Amino acid sequence: MGEKEYVSGRGVHYVVDIERCNGCGLCVAYCPRTNTDEKAIVMTKIPNTNRRGYIHIDVKDIERCSACGICALFCGDGAIREITLDED
Ligand code: SF4
Ligand code: SF4
Repeated sequence: MGEKEYVSGRGVHYVVDIERCNGCGLCVAYCPRTNTDEKAIVMTKIPNTNRRGYIHIDVKDIERCSACGICALFCGDGAIREITLDED
């Protein structure tokens, strides 16, 4: 529950679990596709918080994701992770 999957054109899948997000914003800050109007991921704003009360990442446009993996690398809370097609 609370997970949203997105995929790039290169076939790499990531799962975003908003309930694990602490709202630090690192993924959005370092995503190379957020510095222009071509935003791939964004942070929500209050009152849109997860169950723990944090604002959280939201996938703005899956087509903008280049599957660089930077967001998953920076997320120390495991809210973004790469998965294989066989994984649930
Ligand atoms: S994989 Fe790269 S381009 Fe896609 S959302 Fe994460 S940081 Fe942005
Ligand atoms: S890096 Fe992880 S914890 Fe921080 S805003 Fe992104 S998804 Fe949330």
